[in-house]
Amino acid sequence: MLRKDIDFFANTLYDMYTDAKTELEYNNDFQLLIAIIMSAQTTDKQVNKVNLVFFKKLIWPKDWVKMWIENIKENINTISFFNNKAKNIFKTCEILTKQNLDEFDTIKKLTILPWVWIKTAKVFLSITRDAPYLAVDTHVHRVLNRVWLVKTKTPKDTDKIVEKIFTKQNLANLHHSLILFGRYHCTAIRKPKCKNCPFLDKCNYKYKNI
Ligand code: SF4
Repeated sequence: MLRKDIDFFANTLYDMYTDAKTELEYNNDFQLLIAIIMSAQTTDKQVNKVNLVFFKKLIWPKDWVKMWIENIKENINTISFFNNKAKNIFKTCEILTKQNLDEFDTIKKLTILPWVWIKTAKVFLSITRDAPYLAVDTHVHRVLNRVWLVKTKTPKDTDKIVEKIFTKQNLANLHHSLILFGRYHCTAIRKPKCKNCPFLDKCNYKYKNI
């Protein structure tokens, strides 16, 4: 795929997943932020399972700071890095009892919060404020490399490039759709669905499933 195909790539994915939204479940922006923090190196499905019960009693930051960190750990111990996540979620909640989450409206401000990385901030701002950010996870990194829109070694390297090669409109179109395309269509472990792929003719992946 060539750079001139970028609009086609972004528009096609947007059309494929027009109603795409995050698969994380939450009831307010604060819970969304906590769910995104929890989802690092963990599937959305697992995070939702934990939060099905948890989010019923923990609705605002003040509810979390009433809990002992050990108690939070116990409740989230089925997700990866639960020790560190519990400690940092607690610290984030402490800050958010004193400062309104709405004030954290940029990547720079959000990444002051413990365990909120650039990717976390991008996901949060793209969902809550429709900000034109593409959060580069392993799916996004894999697909962009398979089609040769980037040639990078790590998601971090890909992240440095996406804002240079895609327009803001492309990024807005891709922020959910590309993740879902990588998760369910151009899959990592199971064979990618190349036969039904709109990019089959333009894709440069040498192990296409055809
Ligand atoms: S042709 Fe196959 S490898 Fe290429 S983008 Fe489509 S699903 Fe992925």
